[in-house]
Amino acid sequence: MSEAKGVLYVVGIGPGAHDHATPAATRAIADAELIVGYTTYVKLVADLIRGKEIVRTGMTEEIGRARAAVERARAGARVALISSGDAGVYGMAGLVFQVLRDIGWKRGDSPELRIIPGVTALSSCASLMGAPLVHDFCAISLSDLLTPWPVIARRIEAAASADFVIGLYNPASGRRTRQIVEAHSIIGRYRQPTTPVALVKSAYRKLQHAVLTDLDHFLDYEIGMLTTVIVGSSNTFVFEGYMVTPRGYSNKYTSDGEILPGQRPGRSLVLEAAPDQAEVE
Ligand code: SAH
Repeated sequence: MSEAKGVLYVVGIGPGAHDHATPAATRAIADAELIVGYTTYVKLVADLIRGKEIVRTGMTEEIGRARAAVERARAGARVALISSGDAGVYGMAGLVFQVLRDIGWKRGDSPELRIIPGVTALSSCASLMGAPLVHDFCAISLSDLLTPWPVIARRIEAAASADFVIGLYNPASGRRTRQIVEAHSIIGRYRQPTTPVALVKSAYRKLQHAVLTDLDHFLDYEIGMLTTVIVGSSNTFVFEGYMVTPRGYSNKYTSDGEILPGQRPGRSLVLEAAPDQAEVE
């Protein structure tokens, strides 16, 4: 038994309901004999894992969870370590590598690693709001539990000054409420008060709640650990209740698809001929 090579699936199950877990994620869970995950995520896939052995642990026991998953898989088990969204985006995939490095694991050793991508919160939340991420965006986690606040603040400032659409993961929790207020004030130095802001809580789960507001007002709403915040860029607009960031087609084409004077398809935008884009820069 200990000679058999185990498999460690690191699985992102998407935002919530099955429809948004990929077939590959579902297959990995079906193939595993042991499921390791935070209780909430284990519940989300409850009907896929009946009859399997389950190791559930709380939020703060992430290291223990990663270690347990690696050790059981190393000894020959087929293990699925599950994360919400994408396991490689503020998820368990990073810890798995830390544990593997600590135990001196090499490629070809047991366990075989299979990392299965999932739909991350920014994608699922964006889909509920319209198309806010169609141009350059970045993700920043406001959790300072493992990252010093000055580092986070510097990144918010850089993203705000470079006019990225900003997706904020882990914006607040019961105990952590100061960071989102500070993020608001940093971003406010670079963006108009009317900049669209989306707050999406529990996307594709039972208690889903989405609010479209603006920079000036978003702190008036409840923001918690199940919320993702999307702050628009200077080009983001609201249309029929949807939040949209344009890709810049109107710099080059008419709405009929005709090329504008001075521009060429497949070539870099000619700046003198594109006043909108010049404003963005
Ligand atoms: N690996 C996850 C992120 C984990 S960090 C992913 O790829 O989505 C946890 C943060 O993700 C939460 O604080 C929240 O900001 C966001 N999040 C996760 N699931 C969410 C959902 N269903 N709806 C809204 N935000 C979500």
